[in-house]
Amino acid sequence: MSHILEIGRFPFLQALVVVRNYRHTKNPRTILTPFKDLRGKARKRMDTKICELVCRKTASFTLDHPIASFTFDDFPSSAYRVGGRILEDFNLRGTYYTSLGLQGTSGASGEYFSVSDLKDAYINGHELACHTFSHKTCYQSSASKFEQDVAMNAGHISEQIPGLHFQTFAYPQGVVSPLHHQRVSSRFKCVRTIAKGVNRGIFNLNFLRAIQLYETTFSLAALANLAEDLRKTPGWVVFYTHDVSDAPSRYGVTPGLLEATISQILSSGAQVLPVADALNAIVREPR
Ligand SMILES: [Zn+2]
Repeated sequence: MSHILEIGRFPFLQALVVVRNYRHTKNPRTILTPFKDLRGKARKRMDTKICELVCRKTASFTLDHPIASFTFDDFPSSAYRVGGRILEDFNLRGTYYTSLGLQGTSGASGEYFSVSDLKDAYINGHELACHTFSHKTCYQSSASKFEQDVAMNAGHISEQIPGLHFQTFAYPQGVVSPLHHQRVSSRFKCVRTIAKGVNRGIFNLNFLRAIQLYETTFSLAALANLAEDLRKTPGWVVFYTHDVSDAPSRYGVTPGLLEATISQILSSGAQVLPVADALNAIVREPR
């Protein structure tokens, strides 16, 4: 996808791609492809902005120390077997945004969780949280189907782990849409997005900002800056990633970078908590 962003910034390159596509396929419709991708990006940006502004559930807090949450989306087996164990070695716990329809399958982030991964994560004190059951995004379902997909995920977790109710939600692939957001956000105490940022002061519980913890995009330099920033102005930072492996997918992280991030964040004076626990600890007055 990154090349699309580049060609969007450089019209000359975009023109070259159009010509190359046409010469390669001889199909006139391919001429429109780069423009469709740009239109898709513009729609995504606009929908994200609208969702940030509507269905607000604001809360305010003043922290005397930073709070951090480590979240794993989908979740790949290694997110618990490797990532969860690393957190446990620090006596910490994370949050797993679980798509129960992925159980026992494999995909872009390797093998997804098994029944025992799910139960062990829960028994060992990690938060199991909600994604859609199918892992379909807002752009792949109507608002009503999306809501059913979320309800199905919530129903299945209560069957597998009686008494467990998801408290927090994250959108698959971070794709948000106003109609879907309106139907789903009220079901949860908070909704995590992938909009970049640290949550401070007055913020929207239905639109928690987060920091991408991917091996390909996160660096020790960025981490040092973030830790320094948190030391100066405490806030709630929510990291998100997928698999944890020595050879991670483009959506994952190595055990080394995860450990370094945890260590650096702890050294900034942060308290590390799963999302629901962090919320309970810091939010005094949802409005
Ligand atoms: Zn996901």
